[in-house]
This record gives sequence, structure tokens and C-alpha cells, in this order.
Amino acid sequence: APFPIELVGPVQTGFGRGGKDLGCPTANLPDESITPLSTRAETGVYYGYAQVIPPEEHRQEFKHDELKVLPMVMSLGWNPFYKNKQLTAEIHIMHEFSRDFYGFEMRAIVLGYIRPELDYVSREALIEDIETDKRVAINCLKRPAYEKYALDSCFISKL
Ligand code: ADP
Ligand code: MG
Repeated sequence: APFPIELVGPVQTGFGRGGKDLGCPTANLPDESITPLSTRAETGVYYGYAQVIPPEEHRQEFKHDELKVLPMVMSLGWNPFYKNKQLTAEIHIMHEFSRDFYGFEMRAIVLGYIRPELDYVSREALIEDIETDKRVAINCLKRPAYEKYALDSCFISKL
């Protein structure tokens, strides 16, 4: 796929597949927001940057660091809830948030592919793979060539 790919939209409620139980909450974007991806990208796990942009009146409820452009891992897959007719993009921002941000705008820039979707024999195996994905993403984003994307015009530098 031709990177970078920009995604923007309000964070939606997912299907509670236990993101928080797995220690890895994933923020979902609405279907319309992922069109730039669905036409161009394969299913699997990706890395990039993301930023939560709450409306002005909610901004003071967020800590300074929570409003920054942060590293993320994204899973792109076919949603069984829609009988696998609908692609979903779920983004885990690699930062500990003090609160949820449902309904608030999230912007993301997808920079690279990590791996295809896999089936897991156990919850433990899945958790282990997610941890590997996070390490891979952090390492990839260390490349100096990626620094400029954290300053991309789709993000807001002073929130
Ligand atoms: P859902 O099924 O609704 O997606 P999750 O357990 O995956 O539930 O939790 C996702 C929600 O958690 C996000 O929509 C967001 O509001 C919140 N959240 C808190 N911390 C993070 C984070 N680091 N990355 C992504 N979402 C987070
Ligand atoms: Mg989720």
C-alpha cells in the first residue's frame, strides 16, 4: 500500500471484544473514515502515529501528554459482526490514558505494515503477539525518516 495513509474520524464504540481485558484497548473509527484504507490496504497489523483531538470544552480534562501525537499499532480486519462484509480499523495508542475518548476525534497516519492477521490457539498467544507488534512499531518509528510524519499537517501541534 502507498504510505502514508491519513485517517480521521470520531471514535466509535467497538463490540467489546475485550481490548481492555487484553491490556490493549483499541479505538475504532467509523466505516466512512477507513475508506482510504479499505481500497488500498491488506488486512493485518500496521504502525504509525495517532492523536486524540477532543473538542475545546473537553480539552482540560486531558493530561498534556494525552493530546500529543503518539505511536500507535492498528489492526485492520473483516468484522465477523457484519458477516465479514465490513472492514474495521482498530487503533491502540501506545500511551496510558487516564480516561476514555469515545466520540472524540482521532487522527492517524498509517506508515507501514507489520504482519497479516493470524488465528490464535490461546489468549496468551494473542497477548504475546500484541506485545511483539508494539515493540516492532516502536522500533520502526525510531527511523529518522519517520520523524516528519509526527509533525504532519493532519495533526495539531499545540493542543
Ligand atoms: P471497544 O470495544 O469499545 O473498542 P476497548 O476495550 O477496545 O473497547 O476500548 C477502547 C476504548 O478505550 C477507546 O475507544 C478509547 O476511548 C479508550 N482508550 C483508552 N486508552 C486507549 C489507548 N491507549 N488506545 C486506544 N483506546 C484507548
Ligand atoms: Mg476496541
